[in-house]
Amino acid sequence: MTLDIAVLERLVDQVVREVASQVERRAAIGTPSAPGTAHDGIFEDMDAAVKAAKQAHLAYLQCTMSDRRRFVAALRAMALRPEVLDHLATATVEETGMGDVDDKRLKNKMVAELTPGVEDLITEAWSGDAGLTTVEYSAFGVIGAITPTTNPTETLICNSIGMLAAGNSVVFSPHPRARQVTLWLVRRFNEALAEAGAPPNLITMVREPTLEMTQSMMTHPDVRMLVATGGPGIVDMVLRSGKKAIGAGAGNPPVVVDETADIDQAACDIVNGASFDNNLPCIAEKEVIVVDEVADLLILHMKRHGAYEVKEPAVIARLHDLVFKTETQLKAEWVGQSATKILDAVGVQAPAGTRLIIVETGKDHPFVQREMMTPILPVVRAKDVDTAIAIAIEVEHGNRHTAVMHSKNVSSLTRMARLIQTTIFVKNGPSYAGIGIGGEGYCSFTIAGPTGEGLTSARTFARRRRCILVGDLNVR
Ligand code: NAD
Repeated sequence: MTLDIAVLERLVDQVVREVASQVERRAAIGTPSAPGTAHDGIFEDMDAAVKAAKQAHLAYLQCTMSDRRRFVAALRAMALRPEVLDHLATATVEETGMGDVDDKRLKNKMVAELTPGVEDLITEAWSGDAGLTTVEYSAFGVIGAITPTTNPTETLICNSIGMLAAGNSVVFSPHPRARQVTLWLVRRFNEALAEAGAPPNLITMVREPTLEMTQSMMTHPDVRMLVATGGPGIVDMVLRSGKKAIGAGAGNPPVVVDETADIDQAACDIVNGASFDNNLPCIAEKEVIVVDEVADLLILHMKRHGAYEVKEPAVIARLHDLVFKTETQLKAEWVGQSATKILDAVGVQAPAGTRLIIVETGKDHPFVQREMMTPILPVVRAKDVDTAIAIAIEVEHGNRHTAVMHSKNVSSLTRMARLIQTTIFVKNGPSYAGIGIGGEGYCSFTIAGPTGEGLTSARTFARRRRCILVGDLNVR
């Protein structure tokens, strides 16, 4: 065999460039602290993680409000470093096997920018002849925060900013399928906090998260508050813990389109919202209920905006068998996969640019009834807007999570919002407008429907304390 010198040189050159770029990337994102090194926030067992967080909270009590502002700013700055955003997005998709890298990058960026900080803790005051009384938001102490596999780092950023802004320390219990990326970010956050002069271990976790570790965190006497972001099982568990608990649970957001809507815009928003991060967000559109009169037009425009319609009953059945393990149980390996990958698996060659699969079904179809978190969006026809609203209420299952409506009729918009009672109600926009992405308002990835706190922020993680000075400080 003879070797062509030019080819050999090109190969060597390519390898050298690849190695150099990997070294550069590693240097940019830093090497994770070695196990057990000082104050990286990582502990071997839950008791040690909670005790360290308790120590941290005691030290944190000595810090000023401007210290807290500096620490929160340090968390934001760390999360927003381009190399960190890149790593979080790619590492999460790699480890969890779900979602879309670009969308995850955007989600992490928005939550780091738009989660409220210390400014969220607004003091209330009464003054009068009897003196001055204030109500201030004060820390709980150590919070146990359980995070989902669908938004692992977004929730970690959101909860860290809000919980530390309110003066708490936090022990995180991630989903075991998001262990590595959570460990990585907890280390980066502890580095950022140390550089900003914060007490060590304000954010901790165990090295090997398991369901048992999470359960021991829930019962640990030094954990004063529990915050669960996840499915109904874990929310139920924290609510039965006997501790102050916030439950941010499952959704199955319906989107209603009536005959007055701007159909092209509605189609575009629905495709954007339902395909965002491969439909993983709990707020993402999970089923469309459209007034019959405009159904064909809506489907036509959705196809124009990147949806692929599956019509053949045999392919619909294959799609069902692909994603459902049993009548109600999903196959985890198909959650958060791309539309093209799913279509490929059922033998359909999707056109380039396909982001979403749409299927016409009845309202009782499992695609409608079950929160699937895949870019398969069922479309249900209704004879009029009131029927559409009634179906939406039924399939939301009382989660009180998120609903969307496209309509130009203010009375219909008001009627649906009143009847469905969801925490988030988006009018004429994609679902993610409800968390501040393209809509007004702050961002949160812990949306507490079951316990009613709504889109959580620093004040959600604080106790209200009243201080009364009798007889003085009324200067009127
Ligand atoms: P999941 O319920 O399987 O897991 C959530 C967390 O709970 C994980 O950390 C997991 O390890 C833990 N957990 C689950 N069962 C447990 C048990 N028996 N003992 C101890 N710990 C346990 O949910 P997921 O698949 O990670 O996330 C998707 C779900 O979360 C969806 O239902 C979605 O709607 C919901 N979610 C809600 C919000 C919100 O803000 N309301 C945000 C994101 C996700």
